[in-house]
Amino acid sequence: MTHRHNYKTCPLSDDDPAITVELLSEIMSGTESVKVIGTWMNGPAHEGYMVVEAESFGDVHRLLAAIAARGEIITVAVTDFHSVAELTKQLTKVAQSTCLTFAE
Ligand SMILES: [Zn+2]
Repeated sequence: MTHRHNYKTCPLSDDDPAITVELLSEIMSGTESVKVIGTWMNGPAHEGYMVVEAESFGDVHRLLAAIAARGEIITVAVTDFHSVAELTKQLTKVAQSTCLTFAE
């Protein structure tokens, strides 16, 4: 995910930035249902990057709700490569057994 805010909504512009940064640190630690793989910041650009692992986007949304009020969050959902490879094998078997072909 990427998050971008501006100098007006930057946590450093809050009345007490230390309190905000503590809240953000809690969020960046994740929850039981959202495992945080890593977080990174480009401070001068007011951009944050986060990689998480979760079963439900709703859980991710709840985790990031406080950040969303400060600026946009762009989420890119991805799937483990090996599960996609396995799905491709299964679909190929189904297509072969039913004489279906994939469109070119
Ligand atoms: Zn900022």
